[in-house]
Amino acid sequence: MALGPAEVRLMDDQAHAARTMWNLLHDWWTMLPKDKRSLAAADAAIRQARKEIDWLAVLPAQAAQAVLKTYFQAWKNCWEGRADEPSFKARFRTAMSVDIPQGRDLNITRVHRRWGMVNIPRVGRVRFRWTKNLPVGKRANKDNRITGARLVKDALGWHIAFRVQTLAPVFEPHAGPEVGIDVGVTVPLALSDGDTKDHAEWKSSKDKPNAWLTEGEQAKLLRLERRAAHRKSFRKRGERTSNRLRATYDQIQGLRARAKRRHQDWQHQTTTEIAAKYSVIVVEDLAITNMVRSAKGTIEEPGKNVKQKAGLNRSISQEAWGRTVTMLAYKTARYGGTLVKVPAPGTSQRCSACGFTTPGSRENQATFVCKNPDCGWSANADWNAARNVLHLYRMSLALIPAAGRAVVRRTRGVKPATAR
Ligand SMILES: [Zn+2]
Repeated sequence: MALGPAEVRLMDDQAHAARTMWNLLHDWWTMLPKDKRSLAAADAAIRQARKEIDWLAVLPAQAAQAVLKTYFQAWKNCWEGRADEPSFKARFRTAMSVDIPQGRDLNITRVHRRWGMVNIPRVGRVRFRWTKNLPVGKRANKDNRITGARLVKDALGWHIAFRVQTLAPVFEPHAGPEVGIDVGVTVPLALSDGDTKDHAEWKSSKDKPNAWLTEGEQAKLLRLERRAAHRKSFRKRGERTSNRLRATYDQIQGLRARAKRRHQDWQHQTTTEIAAKYSVIVVEDLAITNMVRSAKGTIEEPGKNVKQKAGLNRSISQEAWGRTVTMLAYKTARYGGTLVKVPAPGTSQRCSACGFTTPGSRENQATFVCKNPDCGWSANADWNAARNVLHLYRMSLALIPAAGRAVVRRTRGVKPATAR
């Protein structure tokens, strides 16, 4: 959204009020005896708080109701085993956001090929970039309309996301080929049919450590980081961060947000391409968080190959494999295909030509040479792994359906378990 400084301040105030509302609600809810907790009581408490604390009233009533609704959903998610208990939202770690739960007040109009206007409660009429086809005016009808919006702030400013209700076409089962995908070391995504998905122009290398930034931007980032470190060195203990230092931090965050946005754009384009082309998409079931955590090990039990693993971790985290899989999950469903996860171990060591797993067959990160004397097949290591991933699926080995998030109903006294 294109907001002036005054409008940004109004939005920030609303977001802080929404966060405080959540915290007050959480405090109140957890202090209350269990038999007194109810939606009606919470609603009454919110109304009273808005009356008594004037700066809470900057949040429109509808948005306050939305906070209550989200809070209840958070508990429901917890009770049904999908998430941990809701907790307090910290000022600096929480993404700033405000809900506009009803679509009818938005009054969206298109004023230009690239710009639209929208009503934001208590802020007024603001301009926003028109990046998607929205069901507005003649295009809107009962089944095809905007039902609300959510305002979210990141390092690049305030954004608006519209909630749209549409009739989705039912897709015929996908008739395309099957494919296995491996998170590559040399390429971001290696496909079992020999194709690779790369982003060569945005690749990180030794002299270009930050992917997704141009050389000028990288130099700027380095300069800003040095400046921040320099300014920080003058700060005494307990002293508050100076405005200059904070401004530098904001600039650093802005550059990182730009890099992330470029990365997500690439992920969206690539996953759409893959979901449109293939019927069955097989991926490795990588537990990323575990891998990242285990690499260093403890002092008593130092991890093995820490350096190599650290490199792998960095690239895995950087490629944000989890996000790719999430995108593939909903996109394959949309195109009538299926996403399948297979257990990962051994896919990089096994020879996809003869099926033997021989020690030392992975020559280096890039090439795979089979040590079986009767075979001796050699190929790109990532391609080999992708072929193995597909093979695991074709052998129907321990399939984990990956569309959506399966909830395991918990029985009494058993910890909640979720399967992704
Ligand atoms: Zn072989």
